[in-house]
Amino acid sequence: MVKETGLYDLLGVPPTATEAELKSAYKKGALKHHPDKNAHNPAAAEKFKEISHAYEALSDPQKRQLYDTYGEEGLEQGGGGGGMAAEDLFAQFFGGGGGAFGGMFGGGMRDTGPKKARTIHHVHKVSLEDVYKGKVSKLALQKSVICPSCDGRGGKEGAVRTCSGCNGAGMKTMMRQMGPMIQRFQTVCPDCQGDGEIIREKDKCKKCNGKKTSVERKVLHVHVDKGVKSGHKIEFRGEGDQSPGVLPGDVIFEIEQKPHPRFQRKDDDLFFHAEIDLLTALAGGQIHIEHLDDRWVTVSVEPGEVISPGEIKMVRGQGMPSMRHHDFGNLYIQFDVKFPPAMFNSPEKLAQLEQILPPRKEFAPPPADAMVDDFNLENVDQSGQRRAQGATSMDEDEEDGVPHGAERMQCASQ
Ligand SMILES: [Zn+2]
Ligand SMILES: [Zn+2]
Repeated sequence: MVKETGLYDLLGVPPTATEAELKSAYKKGALKHHPDKNAHNPAAAEKFKEISHAYEALSDPQKRQLYDTYGEEGLEQGGGGGGMAAEDLFAQFFGGGGGAFGGMFGGGMRDTGPKKARTIHHVHKVSLEDVYKGKVSKLALQKSVICPSCDGRGGKEGAVRTCSGCNGAGMKTMMRQMGPMIQRFQTVCPDCQGDGEIIREKDKCKKCNGKKTSVERKVLHVHVDKGVKSGHKIEFRGEGDQSPGVLPGDVIFEIEQKPHPRFQRKDDDLFFHAEIDLLTALAGGQIHIEHLDDRWVTVSVEPGEVISPGEIKMVRGQGMPSMRHHDFGNLYIQFDVKFPPAMFNSPEKLAQLEQILPPRKEFAPPPADAMVDDFNLENVDQSGQRRAQGATSMDEDEEDGVPHGAERMQCASQ
């Protein structure tokens, strides 16, 4: 006769339960009510604590005796300190190091026993438009679920027997003679292939054929937040594979932003290459840029502003949405200035430029006693251009810092 049965009731076992039965009941209950599996259910967290408390007390023969004789009161007086935190007990029981799942999840520990099903990793590629506007992607995945037909037992109720070869552990300790030594080693139980239980062929669940799980298609809604960056991970705890006796695995989506044909992104800023003609660069004009949300951004080059080839300007607030700051990055525009083709106008017309453009930069004349020869400039094909440029820059009369385009202007006007 025991004084109270409250702790036994929590675990769902009779007061006559063996240690193995207590252990098995705790394992089942703790996995079912673990907070990681019940993120939105505070009642489960409370239950998890109670189950852990019950198992901690009853698994200790001394404490169990105190409880059987004096009830909960006896435990409070005789049990010493407040006992172990539920998460610590859980971690200790399932072999995880440190705080609860931290140890198991990080890998390494995962091969040593049944704790948590594998994590499903998936790279979710998104366009820059999606990142700019934000969206919800519906992604389908195939996962293992506990067979609904047999509730993960693998067969009819009562037809599943604990393997007598290993007492349900799935592993067996074997002895081997190694010369003068006897070596003990662990091996997967050959009777049950590590399942720890045996189901007769005719009693096996028809739906899963005794495998306890079946494959199901599941659709997850992945929120692609505005401004999210490549490498960002979105985690669905417990939405991964299910397997009997272990916690369901997680699903992790990693965001990868696809390259964009118009924009390059750097953090929250966007970069755009705009080709403008020489007239726009000198006398002003407008450029139009199709943005990422069907808007067009129009920017004006003011007459006389003068855009040099390679120059970069910025449009404030037209970059990407910033996740942290709730504002926007900037749009940087780098200008390529397209010069007109050779002989685009008559030498007479071009001479008018002398009234408009700043005067020619005077080259220092050769010394009076120098030998002076005149040469012609020749055209160079594209492949030979680099070498030819290298050669001219070695010319002593050439000045550094004269933009390439300006040289060509001079050629054209001669
Ligand atoms: Zn089944
Ligand atoms: Zn076995």
